[in-house]
Amino acid sequence: MILRLLLFSTLAFAQRKITDDEVSRVHKTALLIDTHNDVTSRTVTGFDIGENAATGHTDIHRLRKGGYSAQFFAVYVAASYVEGDRAGHRTMQMIDTVRHDIVGKHSETFELAYTTADIERIRKSGKIAALMGIEGGHGIEDSLRLLRNYYALGIRYMTLTHSNTNNWAGSSGDIEGRTKGLTPFGKEVVKEMNRLGMMVDISHVSDKTFWDALEVSAAPMLASHSSARALCNVPRNMTDDMIKALAKKSGVVQVNFACSFLSQAAANSSTFTNPALRAKIDAALKDFKGTAQERRAKAREIMNSLGVKRERATLADAVAHIDHIVKIAGIDAVGIGGDYDGVDCTPDGLEDVSKMPNLTRALLEKGYTAADIKKIYSDNILRVMRETEKAAGR
Ligand SMILES: [Zn+2]
Repeated sequence: MILRLLLFSTLAFAQRKITDDEVSRVHKTALLIDTHNDVTSRTVTGFDIGENAATGHTDIHRLRKGGYSAQFFAVYVAASYVEGDRAGHRTMQMIDTVRHDIVGKHSETFELAYTTADIERIRKSGKIAALMGIEGGHGIEDSLRLLRNYYALGIRYMTLTHSNTNNWAGSSGDIEGRTKGLTPFGKEVVKEMNRLGMMVDISHVSDKTFWDALEVSAAPMLASHSSARALCNVPRNMTDDMIKALAKKSGVVQVNFACSFLSQAAANSSTFTNPALRAKIDAALKDFKGTAQERRAKAREIMNSLGVKRERATLADAVAHIDHIVKIAGIDAVGIGGDYDGVDCTPDGLEDVSKMPNLTRALLEKGYTAADIKKIYSDNILRVMRETEKAAGR
């Protein structure tokens, strides 16, 4: 009888229909915080985030529809700014686009948050807390003085590298950099971040840099926008060992929604994550003359002729990464770092920031509770930020 009851309740659970009301209630109480959004690369060239845009992934209307409590905006510094020592200048321009173009011009919607207490206060006021993270450690131009100024302006995490290896940290984005970790100065940078209360972000870094930083950092670390390598084998994603070790020190992996980081088929069909495919296309376009756009169109033509269809990831793939991280490292180890407006392909079902309630529904269907979803959306990242503040003596 008990067995039959159990069987019945399991079946009933599997077939339970999640209502729209439940999705909306759970989503609202989960207080969504996303740790990586690149709309800043658009606002810096004049896009108004208050405009209902037909293109891109992010605007105020869609952030509201997506039920965001807080958003970390990427202060992304392209590697090209290293040449001519312009990386510090670029970092300041990107900080200004958050402070001036996003928060300043839309103070009815956003308020800049410097602390976990600010985030709690701002979301109670009904506004969206805006935070900043530098993407690319070369932005400090090898100077702890610049790092301290960025902290004073509100930077609360720094990704130690972007796709380029810098003078003090190896990146996963270049073959040579993959063998490199942190130099003695790189270790000093991490220690100074700890002292200031700036979170250490290990997305983009080489595996060796990850292990070095994990050893040095006095505070838990985050991967602001990375996924699981066990499900999608690209150097940008984290191995199970890395995820477990990060979690053991109270850190968190914020899952990245880029198609080519979620799905192996998508990764294999992208020149960005498939070096063999990229080499073929580069060779075919060796003498191509034309604009970047014409080059992309030509590359697509060649891919079609090679029979390579550009694959897309799905909402189910995103859920699979979250689920995998929970299984190997626990519910306290995972969060959301969508990388919206930083990638050209987003999953079917999670096309832009407005679609986040779809993820809540999918997690509920998978059996996650409201409390679990709150951990994934906000509690885990707030813990890392609070412990970073505490380690700095705040
Ligand atoms: Zn990135």
